[in-house]
Order: sequence, then structure tokens, then C-alpha cells
Amino acid sequence: MDYAVRVSHYLDPVTFELQRDVILLISGVNVAEVIVGGEVSGGLDGLAAHTLDLGDAVCLPGFVNAHAHLDLSHLHRQVPRGLAFTDWARAIIAGRQVPAPIIHAGIDDACRMAAATGTTAIIDISVGGMSAGALARHGLRGVVALEVLQWDPAQAEAQMRAADEVVRRRFQLESDRLGADAGGATAPATLAGVDFGYSPHAPYTTSRELYQLAYGRAYGEGRVMTTHVSETPAELDFVRSATGQIADLMRQFGAWPGFAGHGTTPIELLLGDWLSPWLGESGPRLVLVHCNYPSGNDRDLIAAIRPTICWCPRSHAYFGHQPWPLYQYLETGANLVLGTDSLASNDGLDMWGEMQFAVQAHPDVSRTQLLRMATVNGRAILDLADGAADLAIWDLPTGGEGLELEKLLNLFVGNHPRLLAAFSQGNLIARAI
Ligand SMILES: [Zn+2]
Repeated sequence: MDYAVRVSHYLDPVTFELQRDVILLISGVNVAEVIVGGEVSGGLDGLAAHTLDLGDAVCLPGFVNAHAHLDLSHLHRQVPRGLAFTDWARAIIAGRQVPAPIIHAGIDDACRMAAATGTTAIIDISVGGMSAGALARHGLRGVVALEVLQWDPAQAEAQMRAADEVVRRRFQLESDRLGADAGGATAPATLAGVDFGYSPHAPYTTSRELYQLAYGRAYGEGRVMTTHVSETPAELDFVRSATGQIADLMRQFGAWPGFAGHGTTPIELLLGDWLSPWLGESGPRLVLVHCNYPSGNDRDLIAAIRPTICWCPRSHAYFGHQPWPLYQYLETGANLVLGTDSLASNDGLDMWGEMQFAVQAHPDVSRTQLLRMATVNGRAILDLADGAADLAIWDLPTGGEGLELEKLLNLFVGNHPRLLAAFSQGNLIARAI
């Protein structure tokens, strides 16, 4: 055994039952054994190579941040608040024009922030695959979803070739290089746990041809495909009739002046038309981000296909959107998850902070439901085994000793608990000192 860890409370990731007085035995990337009731004479000594006796502590599944843009982390607190979405988008396009070391430093800080707040896996939307090495160095699991974005159908294949080049440069070479000459104890031998996927940007910026190339590839290779959709009322106007703020933005960038609109909603465009040849068996690896403004047949399509849908509560509040339609989506049976979006529209990457904003938006929501959205529902995207040793262990709050799960989580959500330790893929990636 690699680790023996004693905690007063352990949440079973399958049954979501809270177990008391538990010793976890971790071997490789999995929890090999859960000993309940502390029935081990002689304590932890001799049970494993390393022992952690954390006492009054609550072990939960590690957080899965299902939507981030780590390569915008250098813009933390650099973009004025209160901008309209299209003005914010202009600021982001300008903000990307900085030297690569600044972007790498931002990604590194963001990974450290995430690990220190109990996140053990991130689905990152990435323009150039720059987060791959940083995720691996910090011991995080990740999907680096390569962003492809191009109106012109004639450019779709060139966009996919550019994504292939990123894979060659960031994944194959980093894997070879790290394996060959990674000498330091902190450097990983490979990019284990970090893989790539695809992310067509949004149906108002990206052609049907490029969506189909990306989704066809993701589907065929069993990868994650994620896309922004139905984020703003302006997107709905533009997709339906090529009018409104996004039309103005497109004209500013000289894009596709002949477009007249699709006469439908963005969600229906994707699920009912562009991706429909593959759907029906898509499962949780199709991750639709935002879906803030469902209308028409959108909910019926989502109920039929049951993709993953990601809500980013703090970023949602930052842009002043209408309350996220949580209860409508719960009824569809879709796999609901939480994400942070980027530090250009969020003050942090702490998933308890996302849950806190979720509770502010929907005070009656089950905290247990929110925890599922922040943890095990995200694991479904990554196809993680139930026994994965991806864990976040928290200081038991005062008054938390005898509480049932829902009440205990309510204490956590309001009070930003202290992380005692985090494991990802069986490795200790964060530890309070
Ligand atoms: Zn995003």
C-alpha cells in the first residue's frame, strides 16, 4: 500500500453515504480498501508506506472543475467589471496578445490555486494546449480541450490540422521529453492523467463543418468534446436572424457578411442538426457549457440526448444573466456539472465558491445535489473508476461532528473549509502544513 489515511468522516463516492471513523488504504491510482469503524489495532503504522492521521476530517471526492480557461489566468482582475458580453469579449481578444511566459505563469498559478482548494481534475479550454505540462506538473488530471474557431467552412480542415500540430507539440513531445530527461523529483515521468479533447468555440463563431470534424474525431476516439452554447440573449438573436450585438462584433472583425441566420436556437442547431448524426449515444463526454437561455425544443432535445451541461455560477453572476435554469435541467436527466470559467470573469477557482453562488441563486437547492455536480458528475465525463483515489480531505467544521451529509455540506458551503490534503491519481498533490 502507498498510503494509509485516517479520517473521522468519509463520503462513499457511489452511495453518497457518510461513513464514520474510516481508514483508507490507497494503492496506485485507486482506493484499494476502506476500513470502517477504526477496527485496526496498533493504528496506521505498518499499513502502508506513508500514513496520514488526519483526525477530525471529512474526505470527499476531489472536485472536478468542468470548465476553465487556464490560458486567460493572467487576466485575473485585469478586465473591468460590468462590461457587456461583447465588450468583455473584445477585452479578452486584446488580453491574449501578451508574451508566452506571462500566459504560462498565469496557468501555473491557476493550477496551484486549484489544487490548494481541493480540485483534482480540470477540463480546460485551451487555444494552444499550453496547460498540458502545467496540469501534469501539479499532479492534476485534465482534459486539454483544444479550441477550434472559424466561420469559414473552407478553413475547417486547416483548423483541425492546427489542432493536430498542437497535440504533436504539446502532448507527444512533452511526454517524450518529460519521460527522457525529467530529473527532478517534482517532475512527472509522463503526462499521465492529462489528455486532449476538442472544443469548437460556439455556434455563432464556428462552422457546421468544423463542429462535425471536431465531434466526429472526438466521438471516434472516445474523447471529450465541449462547446459554449446558448450563453447570451445576443447569441440567440444572432443564430436565429444574424442581428444584434454579435452581428456588430462580427462586422468589426470582418467575418462572414453574407450570413442570414439559421432560424433556430443555438441548442437546437447543435443537437437537432449539426451533431445529430452522432447523437443518441453521445453520453456525458459531450459537454455543453452555459445553456443559459433554453427555449423552444431545447429541453426536449436535452432530455432525449442527456449530454453533460455545465453551469459556471460565479461567472454567470459576473455577467448578470437571468437565474440559471437548474430545476428545468434537473428534470431532463442530463449530467449536470459545475465549472469556474476563466479568471477573466471570476475571482477564484475555488469550487466551494461556485457552490456558494449556486446556493445564492437557488437557496433551496440540495447541497448534496450540488456536491454531486461538483465531483462525481464530473468524474463521469472523465470516465473515472468509482474507486479512483482522487480525494479532497477537509477540516471538520465546529459543530459538524454529528451532522447528516446535507447539514454538514451546508456548513461547508457557507464557510470555505480548510483543505487538509488532496490526492489525485493516488498522489498527494496538496497538504496543509
Ligand atoms: Zn468558457
